[in-house]
Amino acid sequence: MSHWPRRKTFHVNVGGVAIGSDYPLVIQSMTDTDTSDVESTVEQIKRLVDAGSEIVRITVNNDEAAKSVSSIKIRLIDDGVSVPLVGDFHYNGHLLLKQYPECATALAKYRINPGNVGSKHRDANFQKIIEVAIHNDTPVRIGVNWGSLDQRLLAEAMDINAGKSLPKSSDQVVIDTIVESALRSAELAEEIGLAQDMIILSAKVSAVPELIQVYQRLASKCEYPLHLGLTEAGLGLKGVVSTSTAVAPLLIQGIGDTLRVSLTPQPNGNRAEEVLVAKQVLQSLQIRSFEPQVTSCPGCGRTSSTLFQEMTLEIQDYIRMNMPVWSNEYPGVEEMTVAVMGCVVNGPGESKHANLGISLPGNAEDPKAPVYVDGQHHTTLSGEGLVQEFKGIIEDYVADNFKKVEQNV
Ligand code: SF4
Repeated sequence: MSHWPRRKTFHVNVGGVAIGSDYPLVIQSMTDTDTSDVESTVEQIKRLVDAGSEIVRITVNNDEAAKSVSSIKIRLIDDGVSVPLVGDFHYNGHLLLKQYPECATALAKYRINPGNVGSKHRDANFQKIIEVAIHNDTPVRIGVNWGSLDQRLLAEAMDINAGKSLPKSSDQVVIDTIVESALRSAELAEEIGLAQDMIILSAKVSAVPELIQVYQRLASKCEYPLHLGLTEAGLGLKGVVSTSTAVAPLLIQGIGDTLRVSLTPQPNGNRAEEVLVAKQVLQSLQIRSFEPQVTSCPGCGRTSSTLFQEMTLEIQDYIRMNMPVWSNEYPGVEEMTVAVMGCVVNGPGESKHANLGISLPGNAEDPKAPVYVDGQHHTTLSGEGLVQEFKGIIEDYVADNFKKVEQNV
C-alpha cells in the first residue's frame, strides 16, 4: 500500500493495461532501434519487457517504420509477449496512420506532440489523428515537449505578457504555454469526439524545477492521467539523479500515472537500464515493489575488510538470480528486506528493522556476525562459510514466509 494517495483521474485502457488513479503506476520505456528493423526492435522490446516495462513506445517516423509495426506485434505475440505498443508520431502521423491502417490497429496508443503535427495545417492534421484514434478505439497521449513547443502559442503568450504592467519571466511564460498547449489540445480532441477516458497528457521539460511546476499545474487543472518523466535526463549518474529528484516530489503528491525514465544509454549500452531506474524510484518510495531490497551501510573506518561490500553484492546478486523463480512461487517476496551491515554501531539496529539482517564484525570486534530474523536474534555466524550460510537462512525465510502458489501441471 502506497503512502501517497494518488490524484483522482479518469481511467484509460491501453491495450489491456489500465492507467489511472485506481490502478498501479505503470512503467513505460521506449526503443532506440530503427523500427523498420523488425528483428532488432522485437529483440529490444523483449529485453525491455523482461526488465519490467509494461508498455513500450516505438518510433513511427516513415513508411518503412509504419509498415513494420504489425510485423513487430505479430512476432511478439508469437513469442508470447503481449506488451502494448505505443506509436510515437511527429510531423507525418496524420498521413502514416491513414495510409497504413494495419499499423494504426496494431498500436495500443498514439503519442502525438501538438507542436509537431505539421506547421501549416496543424489543427487539421491533429484532427485527422484523433479521427483515426476514434475509429480504432485507441487512446492517445498528448505529449507537449518544451523542445518542440507550439511556437504560435508561445509567441501569442509572450506578446500578451509583454503588454502587462508586471510581466512574468520568459521561463514562466514557457511553463504557462506548455500547460496551455496540453490542455487546449485535449479540449480539441474532446470536441472532435474523443472520449475523456481516451486521453493521457504529458508535458516534458529537461529542467527539474520547471518540470515540477508544469506537472503540479497540469494536475490541478484536469483529471486526465499524467505520463511522468524528465525528458532528455542525460547520461548515467546525472540522468538517474535528475530524474529521481524531478519525479519523486510529484509522486509523493500523488501526481503521475505512468513513468518513463529518459536516460541516454552508453554507446552499445543496456537500454533496459531506464526500466530498472524507474522500478527503483517506485520501490524506494514504496509505491510498488519489484524485488527484495538490500539495505547496507556505506562502510567507514570501522569496517574491517572488503567482506562487507563483497557480501552485499553477493546477496543482491543471489536475490536477483532467484527472483524469476521466487516471484512465481512466493508472491509477496518482492517486499522482503535484507540488511547487510558493517559493524556493531548500526548493524544490530538496522538488522532488526529488516526481515533478515546480518551485522558483520568491524575493526577490533569479536569476529562473529549476529543474524536477526524479523527483529529477533536468530543465530551467530562466523568463519569462511558465513555468506553461504546467510543465503541458506534467506532461502528458508522465503519458503517459510511467502505462501507457495500451487502450479497446475
Ligand atoms: S554500521 Fe559500522 S561500518 Fe557501517 S557505516 Fe556505520 S559505523 Fe561504519
